[in-house]
Order: sequence, then structure tokens, then C-alpha cells
Amino acid sequence: MGAVSTLENGQVTIFKGLVPALAEAVAALDTYAAAALSGARAQLAGPDGRPDRAAFERSQHLAHGLSWLVTYVETLRQVSEWAARLEDEGKFGEAEALLSQILFSEYCAQIIGGIPMNQGETIRPHELGSLEAADALFAVPVIRKLIIEGKTQAVMTAAANLLPDALSRHTVETTGLDETMEMVREQFAKFAADRIKPHAHGWHLRNDYIPMDVVDEMSELGVFGLTIPEEFGGLGMGKTAMCVVSEELSRGYIGTGSLGTRSEIAAELILIGGTPEQKEKWLPKIASGEILPTAVFTEPNTGSDLGSLRTRAVKSADGADYIVTGNKTWITHPVRADLMTLLARTDPATNNFSGLSMLLAEKPRGTDAEPFPAEGMTGGEIEVLGYRGVKEY
Ligand SMILES: Cc1cc2nc3c(=O)[nH]c(=O)nc-3n(C[C@H](O)[C@H](O)[C@H](O)COP(=O)(O)OP(=O)(O)OC[C@H]3O[C@@H](n4cnc5c(N)ncnc54)[C@H](O)[C@@H]3O)c2cc1C
Repeated sequence: MGAVSTLENGQVTIFKGLVPALAEAVAALDTYAAAALSGARAQLAGPDGRPDRAAFERSQHLAHGLSWLVTYVETLRQVSEWAARLEDEGKFGEAEALLSQILFSEYCAQIIGGIPMNQGETIRPHELGSLEAADALFAVPVIRKLIIEGKTQAVMTAAANLLPDALSRHTVETTGLDETMEMVREQFAKFAADRIKPHAHGWHLRNDYIPMDVVDEMSELGVFGLTIPEEFGGLGMGKTAMCVVSEELSRGYIGTGSLGTRSEIAAELILIGGTPEQKEKWLPKIASGEILPTAVFTEPNTGSDLGSLRTRAVKSADGADYIVTGNKTWITHPVRADLMTLLARTDPATNNFSGLSMLLAEKPRGTDAEPFPAEGMTGGEIEVLGYRGVKEY
């Protein structure tokens, strides 16, 4: 028997047989996504059937929309599989059922009616060339029922009623993660409650850096080497651990939650594209927290469209160094960082991705009094509401 939720007025809000219904919905969504993919392929592929770069450039809205659609469908598949696993273990309760039903209802409605990718840009079935497939999707009984009855006021009220009880737990729903991940969550939840939450508001009001002793304790807990392989001094734990740790640290303070991500970005870049020497040199120091990296990509006129960035890196006359010239903005945690993963144009003849290189650029740590002690480097805080990037958000 599945989870049951009954409101005071006797209204039952969770579908009978919800878990198989979710799987059935995913099958119908797969059919729809395949139709959208073949509709979009006509505009995005070259004569050989492979993705065509110029077509992607011309049809950015379509390409953007297609990636949103397939991401939605994959999200729903993962939720459906999670629900099935929990039901097998007898752990698919009221909270899990209500949350998955609401998510399916909302996402199915958006897939058919239009997915809002940001406030000004929505992707709709006719743009994907899948209008008829969308009509067919809406006619599938389980999809129709999920959209119309899955997220009613009664369902939302039932979900909201569960929230006070969930305050005593780390997550509203049963995550279904293994015991190791639950232990990791517990450990970081405790750290955040003891060492971060009591001080976070004070750091924020005083515009302070996160104190180094807190950063050092985070290093000792392995935050900076979570996903780095053990052979390079990390914990080799994988992305799920990164998510769990970032969630719990962010519950204490978004600044501490984001600190580990810069090490993760740098380590990932070095693992993917670094030489054996670069891996030997940098990964153990990143894993131990001895060096703190920062990601230096965005420019005043170049955010999403990194392919047109202008910062140049030119080899010095003796070929020993690169001289970097340009402006960067929105760089989180630059002052106390020791290493920049710096994206710059090394082939001046290009104006797209092909001429870019990712440099590993060392820099001295700065302070409030002297934020950028390196010769030829200047910078300052972006003083806008809600952004404290230089001070870790
Ligand atoms: C809190 C915070 C921390 C950050 N930290 C860092 C950091 O550490 N390092 C770093 O390098 N950068 C950082 N950034 C910058 C971030 O990477 C950029 O803001 C981001 O890439 C978006 O670029 P943009 O702001 O120039 O917006 P734009 O690219 O100008 O986008 C503006 C709007 O246009 C839309 N848009 C863009 N391209 C398209 C398209 N082709 N089709 C349709 N719509 C489109 C976008 O969705 C958006 O709504 C940070 C930003 C924030 C807010």
C-alpha cells in the first residue's frame, strides 16, 4: 500500500498507486522528449546529422530550451527511481509522496505549457517542433491527472502541514542516501550548528572574512578534498558527498557552503586537463586546504558567453611566463585565494572558444588592508545588495 495523506476535511491528497504512476509518466515524457529532440535536430544538425556549431549559434533559444527540457525529464526520471527504491524499502511516506507528486505536476504542466528558463525566456512546444507530441502527452491519462489533480491547494496544504515536524530533521524527505552519506550529513550539520550559525550573522554585519580558524577546521574535516582521489590526498568521495556537505555548510551560512566549491572547480579542471606534474603539485595542497583557489572566468561584458572573452595571455619574451592583461568581475573569494584558475585568450586570432586556455596562476594572499598585493593586479568589492563575493558571498 502506498502513502496516504488525509486533510481534516477528509480529503485524500496522494494518488493511489503513485509510484507506478510516476514511472508511467516518465515513459510518456521520454516519448515526448524524443519527439522534441527530433524536431530540434532538424534545426540544429548539419547534413551529416551531427550537431552543427553555426546552427547552435543561430538557434540559441532552441538549443537552450532543448537542454532545459531534457534536464526536466531526467530530473523526473531520477525522482521516479528514487520513489521506487524507497517504496521497496518501506520508506516512501507522506512527505516523499507529496513532494514527488507536486514536482511531477508542476514540471509536466511546464513541459506542455512552456518552461520558464528565466523571467524573459520561455521555451514552448511549438518552438521545439513538438506541438503535436505535446497534445498527445496531455492526452495521456496519467499526465493529465498529475497536472490537474497533482498540485491542488489541498495537496499543497497537506505538504505544508508536514513542515513543522520536519524542522527537527535535516531534510524534509527521506533522502534514500546510504549510511555513509547520512553520517557525513550529521557531522557537517553539527559543525554548522556549533561553529558557523552562532557567528554567521556577526560576520555578515561586520563585513568580516570567515575566520581562518573556521577555514582550518573545515580543512581538517576534509571539505576541500572531498572529491579529489585518495592518491592525491583527497577523500575520493564523489559528487554526492560534495552536495551533502555544501547543503549542510550552507544551512549555517552560504559563505561557508560556497567555500569548498572553488577547490572543487580547480581540482576538477586539473584532473580533467592538467599534466601529471600539475596534478602532483596542486591536488594534494588543494585537498589539504593549504592553498585556496578562486575561479576567474567572467568579464564585465562576458558572462554566459565565455567564448567571446577578451582577457589576453601572451608568452613573455623569454617564453618562461605568460603576461595576462584584462578585466574580470564577479570573482568570488579572490582576496585570500592563492591560486587562480584563470580563463584567458592565448590565440589572439580567435574570437570563440577555440583560442582560450585555462591557466593556473599563483597569487599572494591579500588582506582587508591590502586586498591584491601582487604587482599589476587591482580589484575591489562589488557593493550591491545580496552579493559579498570578495568576502565569500
Ligand atoms: C553570486 C555570484 C557569484 C559569482 N562568482 C563567480 C566566480 O567566482 N567566478 C566567475 O568567473 N564568475 C562568477 N560569477 C559570474 C557568473 O558566472 C555570471 O554572472 C554568469 O556567467 C552570467 O553572466 P552575466 O552576469 O554576464 O549575464 P549574461 O550572460 O549577460 O546573461 C544575462 C541574461 O541573459 C540570458 N542569456 C544569456 N545568454 C543567453 C542566450 N544565448 N540565449 C538566451 N538568453 C541568454 C541569461 O539567462 C540572463 O538572464 C558569479 C556571479 C554571481 C551572481
